[in-house]
Amino acid sequence: MIFHILTIFPDFFKGPFACGVVGKAIESGAVELHIHNLRDWTSDRHRTVDDRPFGGGEGMVMKAEPLFRAVESIWPERSPGKKVLLLSAQGRLFDQSVARELSTIGEILLICGRYEGVDERVAEHLCDEELSIGDYVLSGGELAAAVVVDAVARLLPGVLGNEASAVRESFTEGLLDCPHWTRPADFRGWKAPEVLLNGNHEQIRLWRSRAAYEKTVRQRPDLLRKAGPAA
Ligand code: SAM
Repeated sequence: MIFHILTIFPDFFKGPFACGVVGKAIESGAVELHIHNLRDWTSDRHRTVDDRPFGGGEGMVMKAEPLFRAVESIWPERSPGKKVLLLSAQGRLFDQSVARELSTIGEILLICGRYEGVDERVAEHLCDEELSIGDYVLSGGELAAAVVVDAVARLLPGVLGNEASAVRESFTEGLLDCPHWTRPADFRGWKAPEVLLNGNHEQIRLWRSRAAYEKTVRQRPDLLRKAGPAA
């Protein structure tokens, strides 16, 4: 899968993908990540990407022109296998099901807003969709883009060392993941559950299913309400 990120802060992305499974996938070529500097598509000597908002008020707004020029030069042709997504607090809420949906698309281009936001014509006429990573306001779309790339890339075949870990994790079947323990079995008197030490795989599987359900009831009952009554 190919990711493009359009930003005025290309150096931001040196950090988040320098390590971990996604970093390795990029290094091996299993995932392609292209960071584009929006200022490369400006035409004045100050490389201006923003201007004052019509109607007055605080702050600056990102101009439509460089963004259209950038996307149209990165992708001279659009197709259903390519999606342009604008990171925006006003977008569809990004969750695990959206991450799964995006992981089936061949190529996505993420636009990072800054300042007061982006000229609305970008959302209306350039992007396929606006995407929000949560109900809070960030100072820029870069952190949100990194979150989207990480969550989507790790779902791609071959990115996680153990394919099963993406199948049994939180939000996959409307539940949280089960809790995990590792050695030592007794740490400061807090013991790992006995059943996990006994080597009986069927008992462990059943115990983990129940533990995942109980943890969901405790921490995120809203997930169970969303999933509806068990069959
Ligand atoms: N005036 C905007 C509003 O109230 O919705 C906030 C603009 S914010 C300061 C600047 C940029 O950060 C946005 O254009 C967007 O790209 C990004 N951003 C902020 N919050 C976000 C969120 N929850 N999810 C995704 N991107 C976000």
